[in-house]
Amino acid sequence: MKKIIVGNWKMNPSTLAEARQIFSEIKKLSKKFPKIDIVVCPPFVYLSDLKNKIDKASSLKLGAQDVFWDNPETGSRPFTGEISASMLRDAGVKYVILGHSERRAMGETSEEVNKKIKIALEAGLTPVICIGEKEHDIDGKFFETLKIQIKDTLNKIKKADLQKIIMAYEPIWAIGKSESESMKGEDLYQMAIFIRKILSEMFGQVEAFKTPIVYGGSVSPFNVKDIISQGHVDGILAGRASLESEKIAEIMDILAQI
Ligand code: PEP
Repeated sequence: MKKIIVGNWKMNPSTLAEARQIFSEIKKLSKKFPKIDIVVCPPFVYLSDLKNKIDKASSLKLGAQDVFWDNPETGSRPFTGEISASMLRDAGVKYVILGHSERRAMGETSEEVNKKIKIALEAGLTPVICIGEKEHDIDGKFFETLKIQIKDTLNKIKKADLQKIIMAYEPIWAIGKSESESMKGEDLYQMAIFIRKILSEMFGQVEAFKTPIVYGGSVSPFNVKDIISQGHVDGILAGRASLESEKIAEIMDILAQI
């Protein structure tokens, strides 16, 4: 499986000029490391512009940070302020982050994320589905929390569609922290096995093992080797580091050697 870096720019940067600058730097890196897929997820307003910088065959792709669960072509109600999957596709988007913990914290439920996954798949977008526990409690309650989250989020997703999905394991306690507070590779390995076990129960072992799992939560050049080689995951979802092309360069360099 090709390694993948998903960059979540969140509500950054403040201007289109800065977005163009960072994107161009990442584009250069993608040419240097064509065997690593890199998905940049900027705010919606920059997508159409950045689309023009992407060559079709490039390993650099555009992603969005969310999509709405209804479709204006078939939808029965208007939805002020929302963005549809077909709009994203038209803006050059190939991937979409869904169920990020910051959106779940604002009230998004697994049921809504599930509807968004279905609408994204219909539009041919690859959903990057975020799951993760708030707390890694000592008595292991987080296993049950995660199991429920995965089951509700992937409810009634077709077996054949699992191949078109990326699971992003993002323990909330590890997001936005210092790199030394990130999850250790050996603990991540345990979680990756657990996620595949749940996916196997839902979709069968063959499908479960074909689904890429990426890790997110304070990834940096300092910890990425441990995360990938000890965690046995297929890539990373980076927040802050994805806005700094020097860090992305270091991360890609390390990934290329694993
Ligand atoms: C995130 O918000 O998904 C994330 C992983 O952020 P950071 O890398 O900054 O912890």
